Amino acid sequence: MKVKIIPILSDNYSYLIIDKENKFCSAVDPASPEEIIPFLEKEKIGLKNILNTHYHSDHTAGNLELKDKFKCKIYGPDKEKDQIPGIDVALKENDTLKINDYSVKIFETPGHTAGHIIYWFEKEKVVFTGDTLFVLGCGKLFEGTPEIMWNSLLKIRNLPKKTQIYCGHEYSKNNADFALSVEKNNNKLIERSDEINKLINENSFTVPTTLEKEIECNPFLRADVDNIKKNLEMENASPVEVFGEIRTKKDIF
Ligand SMILES: [Zn+2]
Repeated sequence: MKVKIIPILSDNYSYLIIDKENKFCSAVDPASPEEIIPFLEKEKIGLKNILNTHYHSDHTAGNLELKDKFKCKIYGPDKEKDQIPGIDVALKENDTLKINDYSVKIFETPGHTAGHIIYWFEKEKVVFTGDTLFVLGCGKLFEGTPEIMWNSLLKIRNLPKKTQIYCGHEYSKNNADFALSVEKNNNKLIERSDEINKLINENSFTVPTTLEKEIECNPFLRADVDNIKKNLEMENASPVEVFGEIRTKKDIF
């Protein structure tokens, strides 16, 4: 599966899933046409589908211009269908669709927004997580409680460990610094933070990450891990309470 990473706006990631013959692609959250069209024109690649993870404009602002130019089909969350410009297909939990030649399954992952969805390419073991899960972080809870977001993150945590994760923003450096502030005694996290700093210094992308790395290092997937609970002096708290505490700390970090 060929995924072209296109950094857009100040810190967003948009992705092009390009077919084998390089004739067409499907784009995840291509919010900035002026940063995407030049690549497509240069490579002579058409745009067949737009996959939106949620309605925020830094993910959907390119929809109408791209649809007008390429006559592409726009997919997005059913619960946000009124806020997704140009939507053709509204998607719900467990819906399956064909994108390029791939079979894709939809999970609803509310929390950042109430209708957020993620796109799981089951056979290829690739997931596009939008603003639900980031490298070493998770989305802000604009429209959900810690319990809602924790349950959304568990859906991702239950995918196979070698799953490749493509997320919606480049926040990895700040997320790594924050993760160390809650779990500085996690050796895997120390290594991962070094790796991220190196990538950023080289001007490389920090995506994709893998689920295995996130399970080992991302504090938001570790709210039920003893080491984190101990560090926060919350040994007897529930995972939802611990997750809520980590999210609150990150909001003011
Ligand atoms: Zn967002």
